Amino acid sequence: EHRNRVVLLGAGNVGKSAILKRFLFGTFSSEYKETVEDLITRDFDVHGNAVKVDFLDTAGTMVFPAMRKLSLTTAHGFVLVYSITSQESFEEMKGIWQQIKEERPNYLEIPCVIVGNKVDLENDRRIEKFDALNWIYTDGFCGGFLEVSAKDDESITDIFKHLYEQSRGG
Ligand code: GDP
Ligand code: MG
Repeated sequence: EHRNRVVLLGAGNVGKSAILKRFLFGTFSSEYKETVEDLITRDFDVHGNAVKVDFLDTAGTMVFPAMRKLSLTTAHGFVLVYSITSQESFEEMKGIWQQIKEERPNYLEIPCVIVGNKVDLENDRRIEKFDALNWIYTDGFCGGFLEVSAKDDESITDIFKHLYEQSRGG
């Protein structure tokens, strides 16, 4: 049996929990309920093989440094989330990526997707796609990048497809 741990990281309020709920349960709520730490396990059938995935939904940055560190060292895959409406959340995402590089010397081999959430709020956009890509190509080196909306169910399943493909060396 394969067991994989996917960790969602990012500032508070960017939509980490919303992305996970949309992906696993197909639901969305506009209410904001702060996460401490949630672990949700799901079985997938991948070409006849049972694959168990533990999804770890974390609190915002700075909140629980020890928990954060543990989540970084135990992850098999990262989803790094910012909101396209918040410059601050983009900066926090960069900081988390820096921390991953420090904690995980083999970071280039770890499946990773950077996610700009809330594209439904185009009028409030603060982070241009070009600027995000530019950072990823020059400093980020994360395997994937997507702009998504948990609210509109835009490109949410692609996040997890990208992770899976990277884990297969694709
Ligand atoms: P977390 O702290 O990163 O887990 O953020 P949440 O998932 O709790 O979401 C924070 C707030 O943003 C909540 O009020 C959500 O309803 C809202 N939200 C999450 N995703 C989206 C999205 O794609 N579009 C919009 N407009 N709001 C979102
Ligand atoms: Mg949350």
